[in-house]
Amino acid sequence: MVAINHVSIDLDAIEHNYHVIRHLVKKNIRILGVVKADAYGHGLVPVSLRLAKAGIDCLGVFEIDEGILLRNAGINIPILVMMGITHDDINDTVKYNLTPFIYRIDILRLLSRTSLKKGNMTPIHLKVDTGMTRLGIDMKDITLFINEIKENKGIRLEGIGSHLSVADIPGHPFTEKQIKRFQKLIQIAKAAGFKDTVFHIDSSGAVLDTKSCSIPNENSMVRPGLLLYGCAPNEHIKGVQTLKQAMTFKTEIISIREVVPNIPIGYGCTYVTNARRLIATIPVGYDDGYSRLLSNNAEALVHNKRVPVVGTVCMNMTMLDVSHIRDVKIGDEVILVGSQGSEEITLTELADKAGTISYEVMCSIGKSNKRIYSSGKKLDLNLGTDLERK
Ligand SMILES: *Cc1c(COP(=O)(O)O)cnc(C)c1O
Repeated sequence: MVAINHVSIDLDAIEHNYHVIRHLVKKNIRILGVVKADAYGHGLVPVSLRLAKAGIDCLGVFEIDEGILLRNAGINIPILVMMGITHDDINDTVKYNLTPFIYRIDILRLLSRTSLKKGNMTPIHLKVDTGMTRLGIDMKDITLFINEIKENKGIRLEGIGSHLSVADIPGHPFTEKQIKRFQKLIQIAKAAGFKDTVFHIDSSGAVLDTKSCSIPNENSMVRPGLLLYGCAPNEHIKGVQTLKQAMTFKTEIISIREVVPNIPIGYGCTYVTNARRLIATIPVGYDDGYSRLLSNNAEALVHNKRVPVVGTVCMNMTMLDVSHIRDVKIGDEVILVGSQGSEEITLTELADKAGTISYEVMCSIGKSNKRIYSSGKKLDLNLGTDLERK
């Protein structure tokens, strides 16, 4: 049976967005595509396979299991495990050649010992906290870790990374503070003899805001996630317009009824008709990732036109006012996210209405629905000439 609700993922759009990023950053900067959280609800394996094929340098997952899935899918580019690893993960880290973020001495030593035993040298990236206060070693412990890395011959320091707290606001003073600390870190690492180390601190917001993207180092790398999926953390940063949203969320009308004035609709009677209305029901609700905060507060597309959500979003159903849609009927396609004709409902639009961010909307919609993948369309690479060098 074909599911009435489905999310379609346009892999060409993801590849397009990768090329947009490639175009935005300097030529010698590496790109790590963040595919944690099931590629932000877009599907870990299909998205990663496409990015690897497109030539991305590296992938970033959250925990080790995701890395193992990617290795089993045949991906052999470097994979950064951004949560880091626990004692239980040491053997698999070596076995599957995964690159963990390291911020614990005990893990560093154990990983080195295990790697040596297996005749390996495991690449690691040091995770340093420059102000986010989430994960990473303190700036003051850098020398301690650098000395440990030199002593433990089973590991190789391949990179040093940190994360920005306010990457979504261009020119924020806190970002400047973090970048300054990071630059100091680069100096310390270089002075300690780590010449080929890759340094990375920029997520999507910083990639768009090219000021912070320019860490003066040949080996720098950026770590965009959101941009790959066609959204921006801030719509007002330049470069956003060239992105293509990869996710479309579709359903169909399963019921239509004509109601007279003064009729309440749905749970809590939160909407009451003020005239004769045509009300359509769709089989999508908060269980399908369509937030209850969108009750009386969002629009969908039917016959290339916007129609409002009326009443409260239920667990698996939602009502739409389709009074102004001519010849509307059961079975007609409804777009909750994506485009139809010249109209588009973006993930950012829904996020704004639900009081959250596009990240959360794509994660929940992507994971709650059957996903289908589309590809094969001609890529629109009309972004400038240096894209040709690939
Ligand atoms: C999620 C994440 C990213 C990607 O952030 P975006 O804003 O989606 O680009 C980069 N680095 C780390 C450490 C992350 O956790």
